[in-house]
Amino acid sequence: MKIWLDGELRDADSARVSVFDHGLTVGDGVFETLKAEDGRAFALTRHLHRLTASARGLGLPDPDEDEVRRACDAVLAANPVPLGRLRITYTGGHSPLGSDRGEAGPTLVVALGETARRPDTTATITVPWTRNERGALTGLKTTSYAENVVALARARQQGASEALFANTVGQLCEGTGSNVFVVLDGELHTPPVESGCLAGITRALTVEWTGAKETDLPLDVLERAEEIFLTSTLRDVQAVTRNDGRQLGDGPGPVTAKAMRIFAERAAADFDPR
Ligand code: PLP
Repeated sequence: MKIWLDGELRDADSARVSVFDHGLTVGDGVFETLKAEDGRAFALTRHLHRLTASARGLGLPDPDEDEVRRACDAVLAANPVPLGRLRITYTGGHSPLGSDRGEAGPTLVVALGETARRPDTTATITVPWTRNERGALTGLKTTSYAENVVALARARQQGASEALFANTVGQLCEGTGSNVFVVLDGELHTPPVESGCLAGITRALTVEWTGAKETDLPLDVLERAEEIFLTSTLRDVQAVTRNDGRQLGDGPGPVTAKAMRIFAERAAADFDPR
């Protein structure tokens, strides 16, 4: 497996990042996960822009989007897989313990893993912890994902693949690595980014392509929604057929099935929607 590290392709087994890299020591870094099909990364331009926005939010120097694009292309060309998970990591770089970040400039890593298509349906749980809708990191895709790791582990213990958070004022927010949509009286809704969720790229395209409404929703909407689905880069649109103890049918409901169809068609027709 070849990865990109600081300006060149290298063997993943021998590539080395400093043990004093700020991404490792304090989680001072940002990342993107992209879906790659047949050597092309889906919605690359949107992911590059979000990477830059997250880096700015952390006070990191702007990544050179052309370089990151070249790195993605090089990694995809060097590792042909039918369906891949492309990961861009950009950190504050290394510096001796106790000194400020970035003396040697940021670290850029691009790597690829082969992945499988996700099932059309899944189960979720809600967790008692909250997303902060007004924090310094709200809306930034930083490498500080430990809270998501803990929530996801709880979901897996309970036979689910995703955990859903409310924000600090009790509104539905998002999952550990996905956005959430609900159907109420036949209409599709998703929490607004002001709820504290990540501005998911799949979410934005789904809103644009289906006309879903961005609505403040209390967490208990999950107990009465006719349908629930998740969106993310690797899930695309995925129906939730069980949330906590509540069963919602055994397959995608009609609104979800339509959103899945629309997403698949539009994404195939426009691989890098701007
Ligand atoms: N919310 C969080 C916290 C995420 O980490 C992700 C994806 O990584 C998403 C939502 C979904 O975003 P996207 O559709 O861009 O993958």
